[in-house]
Amino acid sequence: MAGPVIFAAMRIQFCGADRTVTGSSHLLEINGLRLFLDMGLYQGPRDEAIRINSILPADVKSADAVILTHGHLDHCGKLPFAVRQGLKCPIYCTAATAEVARIVLEDSARIQQEDVEYLDRRSRNPGEASARALYGPADVPAVLRLFKRVNYQQKIDLGHGISFTFYDAGHILGSAYVILEWNEGNGARSLLFTGDIGRYGEPILRDPFPIPRPVDQVITESTYGNASHGPIEQVGPQLLDAVKFCIDRRSRLIVPSFAVGRTQTMLWYFEKFIHEGKMPQIPIFVDSPMGVEVSRIHSQFRDYYDEETQAMIGSKDLFGLARVTFASSTQDSRRINSQAGPCVIIASSPTCEFGRVLHHLERSVENPNDMVLFVGWIPPQTLGRRIQEKQPRVRIYDRWYDLRCQVRTIHGLSAHADGDELLKFLKPTCAASTEAYVVHGEVDQAEAFAGRLLKAGIGRATVPAMESSVVAYASDVPVNQTAAPRKADQD
Ligand SMILES: [Zn+2]
Repeated sequence: MAGPVIFAAMRIQFCGADRTVTGSSHLLEINGLRLFLDMGLYQGPRDEAIRINSILPADVKSADAVILTHGHLDHCGKLPFAVRQGLKCPIYCTAATAEVARIVLEDSARIQQEDVEYLDRRSRNPGEASARALYGPADVPAVLRLFKRVNYQQKIDLGHGISFTFYDAGHILGSAYVILEWNEGNGARSLLFTGDIGRYGEPILRDPFPIPRPVDQVITESTYGNASHGPIEQVGPQLLDAVKFCIDRRSRLIVPSFAVGRTQTMLWYFEKFIHEGKMPQIPIFVDSPMGVEVSRIHSQFRDYYDEETQAMIGSKDLFGLARVTFASSTQDSRRINSQAGPCVIIASSPTCEFGRVLHHLERSVENPNDMVLFVGWIPPQTLGRRIQEKQPRVRIYDRWYDLRCQVRTIHGLSAHADGDELLKFLKPTCAASTEAYVVHGEVDQAEAFAGRLLKAGIGRATVPAMESSVVAYASDVPVNQTAAPRKADQD
């Protein structure tokens, strides 16, 4: 005899950033419609990254929509690979996200191609198969053609009785969280996916938009779910103090920085200091081709700014496009390298493992008057972390240097909300009837944040494993944690 018929209206498959931070991707099946929330690249040790990134959720060809929350690589970086495998549905995102994602994907494609070329050159066995990039620059335009630009708070009908709305997430330019709404047999249902949520009071960006109404289900990030950032009000004075140190000594201030977001935040502060008469106009350089492009995009999307930044607009050039020297070519970079102080050089990458910052560090680390200023958390076992820890000798390229320069860190800047801020954001939907899936965080952060959500009154909070799925029945009971935990779950 057949078993009871249960109407399964919605299924979530966790395809990435589960019990880890990068590779955000979730497949939702609602009333027969298949849609992806983000499709990001996993960033980790090389072999593991290649293995995880070459797995795609089943049959991307039949997807009906992708909803892209923002342009960071760990949220959009798998799209060219998916399109190469047959994904052909619309990719919904804000207009600014479309621009940021274009730059990020072009950069990722170039890096992957160069990486494969390097591996091929290194291979000594003529019979060995050539390495293959996940995608190359030629695969990016097909992704860009699928972008459908959507405004914040514009309800989009996806068919099958399902709609979604983007709200400002305050994380990077164009970032959004999304609320999906649909009808099931027993009434209206809703799901909120946070993407990445930003800090309150960050320069340039608006605060995360308050959740407009409680939802039934939440998929939430938890990057810093159990951590606390320094107060944001201290960032300005600390930065100004570092600049003054270098002005007094006619020395160089090296700021290793992300190209997307953090570089523009630095430029915003310098523009403010100069405008308020707190800092003289000294040479400021952005030595990062991506930093240059993303800064230009920030200038184009003025209606995305917060009130303070809107009020600063007028004749002012918020991202220093007139005052700042942007280096796109390697010749520009060389010229900057020979620049005497006082000057500020913002260069990628923050880890100091690669990128143009290495040339500038070579010249500055042995000079006690120069300063390396870190403006965020630096992963362990990187050159950036070794400098941050003030190890007496550091290796740059193939040479050892005595670390004699000044080293400081500003902790208050982060593109992510900390645990308290994330809880503040989710508070309006912390009800007994709500269930949360906590993703996009290392296990300790995710589990601790799930605990905090339960304490705050949310009905149910779980930390799903990658490749697991949850079926939400019409009766509201989530069941069926299907797949076995992956290797990452045992680490
Ligand atoms: Zn992000």
